Amino acid sequence: MFKVAVVGAGPAGLQTAIRLKELGVDVSVFEEHESIGVPEHCTGLISRKGVEELGLHLGDSLQNTIKGAKIFSPSGNMIKVKTKEPVAYVVSRKEFDSILLRKARLIGVHVSTETKLIDVRNNTLFIQNQKRGELRKADIVVGADGVNSTVRHLIGIKTNKEDFIHTIQTTCTGEFNPDFVEVHLLDYTKGFFAWVVPISKDKAKVGLGSKLGDNISEALKKFISEKLKNARPYRYESSLIPCGEPLQGLTKDNLVLIGDAAFQTKATSGGGVIFSMKSANILAQTIADTLNKKATLKDYEKRMKDLNKELKLHYKIRRYANSLTPQEIDELFVKLKNKGIEEFLEKEGNMDEPSKFVGKLLTNPAYFTMLGTAIKFMTA
Ligand SMILES: Cc1cc2nc3c(=O)[nH]c(=O)nc-3n(C[C@H](O)[C@H](O)[C@H](O)COP(=O)(O)OP(=O)(O)OC[C@H]3O[C@@H](n4cnc5c(N)ncnc54)[C@H](O)[C@@H]3O)c2cc1C
Repeated sequence: MFKVAVVGAGPAGLQTAIRLKELGVDVSVFEEHESIGVPEHCTGLISRKGVEELGLHLGDSLQNTIKGAKIFSPSGNMIKVKTKEPVAYVVSRKEFDSILLRKARLIGVHVSTETKLIDVRNNTLFIQNQKRGELRKADIVVGADGVNSTVRHLIGIKTNKEDFIHTIQTTCTGEFNPDFVEVHLLDYTKGFFAWVVPISKDKAKVGLGSKLGDNISEALKKFISEKLKNARPYRYESSLIPCGEPLQGLTKDNLVLIGDAAFQTKATSGGGVIFSMKSANILAQTIADTLNKKATLKDYEKRMKDLNKELKLHYKIRRYANSLTPQEIDELFVKLKNKGIEEFLEKEGNMDEPSKFVGKLLTNPAYFTMLGTAIKFMTA
């Protein structure tokens, strides 16, 4: 019997397992796919600050270093934020996850691939291992099983269709500025945006998200043909991003959720790698304390308070952005730019922690009147 079974070998599951093992807890990871990190449903844009705080070694996964962003309104008005120092990294998720896997195995975490969780009853896990049914035992089961989590279903948490964004991404060859990511707010990317994240000056990850039910393949073709004239796409991947509020009630009996399964993603950008790994450290410590009778699993959510504060703020910003019409966004871009938003964001911007600058922005007399309705969303 394992002390802890982790379901899913993405960043959330592997980081939870690594931290647990470092804390002396017997842990095993079950991953349904044959290879870790594939299919690659991720752009791999992660903040430099997050990488440093987590002490991550990017090694061969590092594809590019980013020094700013160009954000376009629906009619093409641009806000450009340029930083002196690199603000983010682009990584290959296949390589990134492989580095975590190697680290986990090196310290003695047992990781089984082609092993899919089907059900959990008390301490018994029903597993499908290369099509064979098997039983495993564990004291605690961690659901790090991503956006369509089975463990979330077993806990009984209901989600809304509106809280998921349907995405499609391709890799394009063409001509790109390797220093800047591009974000395009378009009238056909409802509730989200299109992105261009350069890997080099002649290759970029290009993708788009919109609400469920929209034809995202056609939308991406339209975006590429209209905005990226010389880009040649190859290899498409489609997936979901949880874009709702971070879920509550993440534990039930011996089950607990982490990462995309728990909606620990930034609703503004869909980024979840850094937050899921920070949450994993908190969860692993709570599990170790629980096994040592110094805490209970329920303490995990209390200890998530600071991270949840940021995630909730991302969600409020998303709701505010979604409340604006394309025309209102166009007008806002012009007004904000005239009032020096680019310089403000260059100085104060923060990819992961909006609390560091949203308060300053909304109480700044230069922006107060034009962002009046935003206050309603931020204080709701
Ligand atoms: C198009 C797109 C672009 C993105 N871009 C970025 C970005 O630039 N930066 C960023 O930070 N985030 C990005 N994200 C989000 C990021 O990919 C996720 O937040 C992150 O992968 C969450 O990690 P996780 O470990 O929770 O889930 P996952 O990485 O999804 O891992 C879950 C694992 O569980 C396994 N699994 C599922 N069910 C079972 C089961 N029943 N049994 C066993 N195994 C199971 C899956 O195979 C998978 O390996 C993007 C997402 C998408 C869709």
